Amino acid sequence: MPTPNNLPADGVVNLVNELLGKAISRRASDVHFEPGNHEMKVRYRLDGVLNDVDSLPAALAENMVARLKVLSGLLTYRTDVPQEGSFPADSQWEKDGRSLDIRVATFPTIWGERAVVRLLYSVGTVNELDGLGLPVDLVTDLRRAVEKPHGLLLVTGPAGSGKSTTLYALARYILAKIPGRSVVSLEDPVEQRIEGMTQIQVSPYGELNYIRAMRSLLRQDVQVLLVGEIRDAETAHIVVEASLTGHLVMSTLHSGDPAEAIVRLLEMGIAPYQLAGAISVVCSQRLLRTVCKSCGGKGECEDCSGIGYLGRTACGQIAVMDETLRQAVLARRPVGELRRMLNERGSDLATDAKRLIEQGRTTIDEVMRVLGAA
Ligand SMILES: [Zn+2]
Repeated sequence: MPTPNNLPADGVVNLVNELLGKAISRRASDVHFEPGNHEMKVRYRLDGVLNDVDSLPAALAENMVARLKVLSGLLTYRTDVPQEGSFPADSQWEKDGRSLDIRVATFPTIWGERAVVRLLYSVGTVNELDGLGLPVDLVTDLRRAVEKPHGLLLVTGPAGSGKSTTLYALARYILAKIPGRSVVSLEDPVEQRIEGMTQIQVSPYGELNYIRAMRSLLRQDVQVLLVGEIRDAETAHIVVEASLTGHLVMSTLHSGDPAEAIVRLLEMGIAPYQLAGAISVVCSQRLLRTVCKSCGGKGECEDCSGIGYLGRTACGQIAVMDETLRQAVLARRPVGELRRMLNERGSDLATDAKRLIEQGRTTIDEVMRVLGAA
C-alpha cells in the first residue's frame, strides 16, 4: 500500500475535520472538494447556493479525497470509477444533541478525484406545514387532500426545492391528526426519521427498487404511502393504480409547475381518465433565500457569513382537481393551455414570490435567480 505523502497524515485528517466541522456549524447541505490544475477548491452549499470557502494546493487533493474515502468505507485504490459511501458523524460534530448522516460521492476527473459530501441533518429542520413559508390557502388545500382516505398528492419542483420536506411535514400532520392510519414511506435516501411511520430505504438499481417495494406493500394493508419520487413510467403507473384502489399516495415529481407535471404523467402513458381520477392536488414549490435579519441583508455580519441571506422559505402554487381541470385532462389539453387555466384561477409561483418580496422576507434578485422572472 502506498503511503500518503505531501502532508503528514494527521495534517490531512485535521484539515478534513476542520472543513467538515465548519460546514456543519454553518449548516451547509453539501461540501464540494473540486480538484483543478493548480488548486483544489472547497465549496459549501449554503441555503441552496454554492459558496467558495477555501482553495488548497492541488498536491493535497489526492490525500484529502483519500481521507474522505477511508471515512466512508470506499476503496481508496480505485480512483477510476465513481463511488458512494456514508458514515455517521463523529460526536465532535454533533451539536445540541442533533445527529447527522454524512454521505460521500466521488467521481474521477482529469485533475483527479472530485468528492461531494452531503450532510443530512436528522433533527432541527422545519417539520411543520405552517412553518414552510407556503401560502395559507395552499396549506389548507394540502391538508384537505391528506385528510381524504385516497387520492394522489404530488409535490413538484426541481432538485433542492424542498419537496421532501413538504412530504415529511404532511406525513407528520397525518400521524398527528388521524392516528391509526398505517403510513409507510419508500425513500432514496431516508432524509429524516419520523416516529410512527414505517420508513423503507429503496435502491433504484438494487433488489428493492420502488416498483418491487410498492407491489409488495400494496398487499400489506397500507393506507398511506409516501413514495420519494416518481422517476419513470412504471413507478407512475403503480402510484396511480394505488391511489385509484383506495390508498392515499404522496409523491414528488421533477417538473416545473402543476401543468407540466400533469402533461408529463400523460406522456408517461397514464390514461387521462386514470390521471383525472387519481390526482387530488398537484403542488409546485421553490425555495427562496430569506434576507438576513441581523444585518438587514447588507451582508455585513457573521450570522450570514457576509452573504446577506440566512435560511430559506418556500413559495408555491397548487392545482386542485376539480371539474374544470378534470375536463381539461380528459381532453388532453396542451401544457400552455393548462398553465393559463391554472394560473388564472389562483396564485402562480411568481405571484406568490411577490408576496415574500412585499413582506421583505426575500429580494427581487433572489426571485430572479430561482424563478428566472420576478
Ligand atoms: Zn447578515
